[in-house]
Amino acid sequence: DSGRLPRLKIAMQKSGRLSDDTLKLLRACGVRFNLHEARLMAHAEDWPLDLLRVRDDDIPGLVMDGAADLGVVGENVLEEARLEREVAGSPAEYRLLRPLDFGHCRLSIAGRAEEDRAAPLDGKRIATSYPYLLRSWLKREGIQATPVMLTGSVEVAPRAGLADAICDLVSTGGTLEANGLREREVIFRSQAQLIARPGALDAGQQATLERLLRRLDGVQQARE
Ligand code: ATP
Ligand code: ZN
Repeated sequence: DSGRLPRLKIAMQKSGRLSDDTLKLLRACGVRFNLHEARLMAHAEDWPLDLLRVRDDDIPGLVMDGAADLGVVGENVLEEARLEREVAGSPAEYRLLRPLDFGHCRLSIAGRAEEDRAAPLDGKRIATSYPYLLRSWLKREGIQATPVMLTGSVEVAPRAGLADAICDLVSTGGTLEANGLREREVIFRSQAQLIARPGALDAGQQATLERLLRRLDGVQQARE
């Protein structure tokens, strides 16, 4: 009777680019949920597992703070949160369990299409939703540019005169082109990861996790 076991809480994106693939993967592992659109929480039918459906940006913090046991999140969001929390002195540890081979994207710097791609970025303002990832790359490269934080509409910032360049997620480049921008440099490559909170799970949760990982490895092997 799975009702007696301490349950594992998995945080996942409620609605967005990772949601369908996350649910599909869990289903392929034999975990079934009855999702109610309005509810944050969903209980698995035959497993002692609960789904927490949240904004993807909340997932790293939920796991690092130990509020959720597991999380499925893009490395871009994960690393940005880790860097930010490190600076703030908040808990920033987690365990990487498995790369999930979906949610592939890259974080790139793009400039105006008419501009020389090799023109130095020094002294430029770069609009981004990932100021910590951008700052750490600028530092590594020894470039003195200023990140300008925008949580959305990053690609219109140059046209709006808010920035000279952008640092944003790219998959096909279509959005860049539509905004008169051209990719210059990839600064971070990302895919979705299964992560766990730091510290030991209790024995029942650990057994559930191991069962889930065995299923996951089987599913991933079958896909190769
Ligand atoms: P939320 O409402 O949960 O905050 P969001 O709008 O921030 O959603 P999505 O656009 O759904 O996020 O993207 C979620 C994640 O999917 C990204 O952080 C990234 O890891 C991944 N991803 C994969 N491909 C792309 C892409 N082409 N553009 C943007 N993100 C992508
Ligand atoms: Zn988000």
